[in-house]
Formats: sequence, C-alpha cells, structure tokens
Amino acid sequence: MSFCILEKFIKEYLELFDGNLRFTWHGGEPLLAGYDFFEKVVAFQEKYSHKSHKILNTVQTNGTLINKRWALLFKRYGFKIGVSLDGNEKNHNLLRKNKANKGSFQQAIRGIRILQEYKVPVSILSTLTSRTIGHTKENLSFFADTLGIKNIGTSIFYSGESDRSNPLNVQPEELTTHMKKTIDFWLEQNKSDFRVREIENYLAGIIGKEASLCQFNGWCTSFFCVNHDGKIYPCDRFSGQEDLLFGDLSAQPLIKILNNPKRLEYFDKTSFLHRDCLECEWVNSCHNDCVSLRNKNGKSIFCQTRKQTFKYLRSKIGKYT
Ligand code: SF4
Ligand code: SF4
Repeated sequence: MSFCILEKFIKEYLELFDGNLRFTWHGGEPLLAGYDFFEKVVAFQEKYSHKSHKILNTVQTNGTLINKRWALLFKRYGFKIGVSLDGNEKNHNLLRKNKANKGSFQQAIRGIRILQEYKVPVSILSTLTSRTIGHTKENLSFFADTLGIKNIGTSIFYSGESDRSNPLNVQPEELTTHMKKTIDFWLEQNKSDFRVREIENYLAGIIGKEASLCQFNGWCTSFFCVNHDGKIYPCDRFSGQEDLLFGDLSAQPLIKILNNPKRLEYFDKTSFLHRDCLECEWVNSCHNDCVSLRNKNGKSIFCQTRKQTFKYLRSKIGKYT
C-alpha cells in the first residue's frame, strides 16, 4: 500500500469513527511491507487521532521474518502479534512452505521465541484443514506446554459452496470432534490465563454475554477490508471478489464507499437467519455463523457442530457453575 493511500485511509477513518478502534494488518505476509510502513502507520495514527480514540494495532504474520528490530518496533508501539502456526512441526509443515519449498516451521518458531524474549504479546492462529484437524490434542499441547502460548485461536479452512469437494475442507463432524477435544484440553489445563478464543465465544453464549468474534455475535458489519491498492471489500474472506467491491479509496472518499448501497445490501445478507435459526435456543449466541460459511439455503454449514459444541460445553461446565 502506498503511503498516500495509507495516510488517506487513516485520516478519513479516524475522522469518521471514535472510541476503541482496531487495525488488523495482514496479508499475504504483512511484514513484507517493511519497517517504514509500520512506522508510518503509527505516525499517521498519532497525527490524526484525538483523545476519544483508543487504537489497537494487531498484525497477523507467518512469523518467519521476525527479528529483534521487528520485536522492538512492536514493543515500542504496543502492537499485538498473531502468528499463523498450524501445529507441531509435522502438522505445520504439511502445507506451510517457504520459498525453497521447505516447511517454514523452524523460522516461525524462531520468530515466536524472539517475540517472547522481548515480551511482545503473541497469540497463535491455527488454520484447521482436513489434514490437521485430527491432531487436536498434540497441537494444543505443543502450543500451550512446549511454546508456553496463552492465547490460541483457530481459523477453519472451508473453500465455500463453489468448491465443496476441496480435499482440505474441514467437515462438520471433524470440527465437532475437534471442538470437544479442545474443550477437554482447556478444562484439563485449568488455568485462568489460558485462553482459547473459540471456547470463550461459545462460553459467552452459555452465560448470556456478548461474544467477541464476528462469527458469533453477528457484527460482520463492524469490519471492512482495505486492500493494498485501496480497494475496499467487506472482509478479507471476500477480498478481490468483484461483486463485493464497495469502492476504491484511491479515487473516492471513505464515507462514500461505506455508504455504497451495495454495502447496505451486504448487511442484509449477513443478518439473514434461516428458519431453523429462528427456533434455535442458540440463535443469540450463534447468529447463523460467518456469512462465508453458509450453504445454499443460507444456513451455517457448521450448524450441527455449533449446537453440539454449545451443548457439550454446557454439560462440562455445569459442575463448575
Ligand atoms: S465475513 Fe465472516 S469473518 Fe468476515 S467479518 Fe463477516 S462474520 Fe467476520
Ligand atoms: S446453531 Fe444452527 S440453527 Fe442455531 S442459530 Fe446457529 S446456525 Fe442457526
């Protein structure tokens, strides 16, 4: 992203919105943008923010480029870092290769260790595919026990309706089993500072609090995604999808893009509830899942997983409440 588009975006965004604002920098690999880019991010945020803004920057990286200089920059500016790590060495290297077509595990671990050394808050975002989802306990144990990570989240690989036969797609039954094993692992850890993002979101539903993740709280509309060229889409999951292009920051003001009728139509789509949802006891905690994970009928592909996970977690925590 050019500094010109970056400045325009930050300036107009901070003019439009107050309060707690989160900038998530991801790619591709966002660190390829370079140190100067992130120095500019902070400089523009400082230039255009005012007292009512509380800004958090997070970076989602594969971790392979992290060195002392990056760690110091993140530390200085209070960035939170998520490293994409799909499990232990065997599981991570199945699909994550570097330029030399070799597994990137060792480079990612080196990056995590540097962040930990400099006390930069680091979490793991693990992508679940059909090839890794059968190794729940060994991967969680690696993150928590070997690496000492306290904050773990997952991203489900599902290529969507147009490509349901993709062999990497996670199937609902596999995800249900994975979630139950994750709950068991989380309870066995029995540590208040050990957080699994998805469990926290299921738990919020059970105890009647609002979940933090858009896939649970129905706030898909709180996000938008700015591509490197200034094009704006609803979310990185739809980045590059022409029918969901809301506008181009290099040629239009942000406010005009955000008021594009196409965006308002998209809001309607995201808030759709299938008739089964209307009668479901979990509707206020599930909201029919992420819009990108719904089938042709408009219902979450992982509906049964969600119902069974809510039920399983409720049965497990009953004895603690
Ligand atoms: S498309 Fe899904 S992941 Fe993206 S903002 Fe909406 S609910 Fe969240
Ligand atoms: S669990 Fe299923 S039926 Fe219930 S709200 Fe979620 S998607 Fe709808």
